[in-house]
Amino acid sequence: MRIYNTMSRQVEEFQPINPPEVRLYACGFTVYDYTHLGHLRKYTMDDVLVRTLEHAGYDVKFVQNVTDVGHLTSDSDTGEDKLEKGARKYGKSAWDVAREFEEYFWRSMDLMGNLRPDVSCRATEHIQIQLEMVQELEKKGYTYEIPGDGIYFDTSKFPDYGKLARLAVDDQTEGARIGVVEGKRHPADFALWKFERPGENRAMSWPSPWAERSFPGWHIECSAMAIKYLGEQLDIHTGGIDHIPVHHTNEIAQAESATGKVPFVRYWVHHNFLLVDGEKMSKSLGNFFTIDDVLERGYSPRALRMLFLTTHYRSEMNFTWEALEGMQKAYVRLMRQVAELQALVGKEVTHTGHNDTASPYKTAFYEALENDLSTPEAVSVVWNVLSADLPNTEKLLLLEEFDKILQLDLQNVAEVAGREELAIDELPEVVRELMQQRQDARNKQDWDRADALRVEIEQHGFRLIDTPEGQKVERL
Ligand code: AMP
Ligand code: ZN
Repeated sequence: MRIYNTMSRQVEEFQPINPPEVRLYACGFTVYDYTHLGHLRKYTMDDVLVRTLEHAGYDVKFVQNVTDVGHLTSDSDTGEDKLEKGARKYGKSAWDVAREFEEYFWRSMDLMGNLRPDVSCRATEHIQIQLEMVQELEKKGYTYEIPGDGIYFDTSKFPDYGKLARLAVDDQTEGARIGVVEGKRHPADFALWKFERPGENRAMSWPSPWAERSFPGWHIECSAMAIKYLGEQLDIHTGGIDHIPVHHTNEIAQAESATGKVPFVRYWVHHNFLLVDGEKMSKSLGNFFTIDDVLERGYSPRALRMLFLTTHYRSEMNFTWEALEGMQKAYVRLMRQVAELQALVGKEVTHTGHNDTASPYKTAFYEALENDLSTPEAVSVVWNVLSADLPNTEKLLLLEEFDKILQLDLQNVAEVAGREELAIDELPEVVRELMQQRQDARNKQDWDRADALRVEIEQHGFRLIDTPEGQKVERL
């Protein structure tokens, strides 16, 4: 297995600390708003990584946190806690917002076919270990207090600070990250623990040795929970590329200073962004789509997964509905071909053992994935198998095996392959009439009426799908 390591900026041979065990920590989701397609891309590629490692014979211990406190709207330790912001936006308590969006996250993951981590840990349920880690850093002289604000990490005490992002010393003192917090000794210094501001009235707050009402910083949660569940040194740590200069840089500083063990992480794996119109899809910009938008427009989450797989995880990817429409068509074609194979092969699929004619395809598939997760190549092997001169049974067995990693849901072909879109003149008059009324309601932005008409159309036995080209229907 070879994987790109952000620390060395190279594709490296993968050698875990204690094979076959692989200790993997993935930065989790901040549960203050909906999970969007950008997150789905990141966590789908994590899923492919875990499944590829497992196939290669490793025993992966996969830990992922839930960020439900302490992630501020600004990376420079100013701004509001995102959970408090979400609470205001949705008119609920921060605790309710956290639980609801965590559920939405898991539902989205399940629809995408992503494995659940072995351990999912919420920051709010690990306050004590985070506090202890800050106290350890304090004892070792890495911290200072800004009265009324928080406990800060003094980056000048950690000479390797910035090694992951290759930040020059200048960047740390005057670069892009202007430290607007008054009292910071160096602009790169970051909050380990924050104090509630007067009048802030936070829903989430805990007593600490420094303040009666206070809460952990975002970076400390990942270091503390990763160490608790995986030990002081990890094999792999994943996250989006936005985490390189701040969040992961700070995780390294805290963990290596607290434990004295270097490196904290052997392989740093970073995912590139999903963009919309050239900008990062993000909760804060509001330019996002969710898995429900995908479903409402009649696309399959697994067609979306296939779309993600056709771009390498280290490349930017621009999302368009046209691209998903094209991929949905390819996906349905794939599923129909698999359905045909199943019909031809019948029920007697028993593996006859090793088959030489199939093995070059297996080799090509796994070599692609084991070479820094080249998913575009792996997907092209799927198409090559379909057009190959192989016995049908072999084709089917290969595709079913590949699907253990790709998760295109080949065991459920009937549902997708059997879907037929109906032309408007094949529909009963009453359904056509209801569709017209619904179009009028949508034009007037009367969403309640549009929803009611959708239900009525379903009662006539048709599923309605909104697509970029307008309404379409399928028989239910
Ligand atoms: P957050 O909920 O903001 O903490 O993000 C959770 C993870 O999703 C992080 O690793 C982010 O880097 C990643 N992420 C957020 N937006 C995108 C995007 N548009 N494309 C890819 N990854 C993203
Ligand atoms: Zn993290």
